[in-house]
Amino acid sequence: MEQQEHVELLRKSGLKVTPQRLSVMNVIMEAGEHFKAEEVYKKIKRTEPSITLATVYNIFRSLNDNGIINSFEVDGTTWFESNLDAHANLFCEKCGTIEDVSIPENSSLLEQFSLDGRKVRSASFVLKGLCARCSKNSK
Ligand SMILES: [Zn+2]
Ligand SMILES: [Zn+2]
Repeated sequence: MEQQEHVELLRKSGLKVTPQRLSVMNVIMEAGEHFKAEEVYKKIKRTEPSITLATVYNIFRSLNDNGIINSFEVDGTTWFESNLDAHANLFCEKCGTIEDVSIPENSSLLEQFSLDGRKVRSASFVLKGLCARCSKNSK
């Protein structure tokens, strides 16, 4: 995704376009990747020494609240990703990485939750096991 698209995403959500927000988005919008706030903070600090971890957390919160990114928790650690499609996140218990696992297209998984007709806005599923690489290596 290009810088200009990030600017438009922020504007559409009514968020102010700031250099720090754009720096965070440049990192987080990478497709298929999952990030912890600390990792993103360390990456950005190299080019923007004035940024603080609290600022990064605040930016993540506002992006998440506006549906630009998705967040989920594994064992008390919060992860962020730009993949908003319904999918499950597989936490590898060996190497600690996250892998996207798609939910079959016609799956009625979300419909299984009875909310008396209320709509599910978002869902996050965390699976635990081995990522593709660790699973291959352990054979
Ligand atoms: Zn692994
Ligand atoms: Zn994911």
